[in-house]
Amino acid sequence: MPAGEDDIFLNAIQRLDSAAQFAEIDEEALEKLRHPKSILQVSIPVRMDDGTLRIFQGYRVRHDDTRGPTKGGIRFHPGVHLGEVKALAFWMTCKCAVVGIPFGGGKGGVIVDPKQLSRMELERLSRGYIDRVADFIGPETDIPAPDVYTNAMIMGWMMDEYSKIHRKRTPDVITGKPVPLGGSLGRGDATGRGAYYCIKELERLKNWQPSEISVAVQGFGNAGQHVARLLHADGYRVVAVSDSRGGVYREDGLDIPRLIESKNRTRRIDAVYCEGSVCDCPSCGTGECHCENCQCGDGAQSTAISNAELLELDVEILIPAALENQITIENASQIKAPVVVEVANGPTTNAADQVLSEQGKLVVPDILANAGGVTVSYFEWVQNRAGFYWSEEEVQDRLHRIMAKEFNAIYDLMTKHKIDMRTAAYTQALKRIGDAIESQGTCRYFSNGTSTS
Ligand code: GLU
Repeated sequence: MPAGEDDIFLNAIQRLDSAAQFAEIDEEALEKLRHPKSILQVSIPVRMDDGTLRIFQGYRVRHDDTRGPTKGGIRFHPGVHLGEVKALAFWMTCKCAVVGIPFGGGKGGVIVDPKQLSRMELERLSRGYIDRVADFIGPETDIPAPDVYTNAMIMGWMMDEYSKIHRKRTPDVITGKPVPLGGSLGRGDATGRGAYYCIKELERLKNWQPSEISVAVQGFGNAGQHVARLLHADGYRVVAVSDSRGGVYREDGLDIPRLIESKNRTRRIDAVYCEGSVCDCPSCGTGECHCENCQCGDGAQSTAISNAELLELDVEILIPAALENQITIENASQIKAPVVVEVANGPTTNAADQVLSEQGKLVVPDILANAGGVTVSYFEWVQNRAGFYWSEEEVQDRLHRIMAKEFNAIYDLMTKHKIDMRTAAYTQALKRIGDAIESQGTCRYFSNGTSTS
């Protein structure tokens, strides 16, 4: 592994040490969690549309399966590397334990910019990945799902490919599938919805009036869009959103449904608020603009902002919903939001976390805030295995109950031990994982007493 690539994993597992004392976990159990169970690296040959052959590199990591089959998404991104996939798999182990679902943690990734592929190339790559990992994954061993830049359709291709290889229809090998192919109702917005339920608990605890609470969301993919939509529908003032190209800010609040519609149609969020510098359209501001939905001149008064500027906005709630390492030691002291809800995995570095904690910020950590996705993935797997499907209301109701219960348990641990919410979440995860590891016996058991004691 190239120098420095493992840093993200080494930083991730440092969280174990701070929570260990409160979880009273055996050192042997901790040691087990410092080492992923197994790692697979694959080369995936793909015939491109122009006839050439390209070889893509991919990974699948199973971090720990003490509590159940490993579970976690597959990421398609040019920045994927093994250290990142290991860290993401570790976070999945902790996340599944936080919400008490019977899974361990896994993750996969392919080094690719999917935006540069045609749809047919993307399908060939997705099927090629499964061809390479088909003996490593399985409904009772390791169950993938969507992650950054993968979606329901890709999960459908992957399920189909696995089923072909094993000559048996196997919907429970992967979650986040399209509903007609065995996906669960309510999986599409589950990650954002889980974070929304956390915010609703905060609203109750802090007596918030939604209209007085301003929100900035970094990342307008599957998770960011839905949390923004749900908060907006409840009357929260979502003043800024961004995607990988940049963002928009509007003090009175953005029209989130229109932004979602625009993003899904044009792949741009700024097409709705294309006034002045926000708009790429050369005719904007000239009176000649023919952009559909364009609000030029109707007083939208939005401003273009960068991703970095969004993070430092003076808002009540900051929601990083993009990639890792966004809040770092360089910008941590500039973060003004008193509440940070981590919808991305690992958006805050350890050093930055320390700064936020010293400043008294409340950080709802990723392993709780974004656990809604994997929770509904669990429901999908259960439904696939039972061959019996639930209504959307039932899915949402079960998700709500789990998120509210675990949020409050972690909030209480935080208050009881006077620790930050992240340490409290890891404490809860470690208690559950530790109980499972210790119930198989540790040094304390094997070096003491008789076999019946
Ligand atoms: N990729 C999502 C996550 O990081 C979902 C994982 C899953 O559903 O297995 O939590």
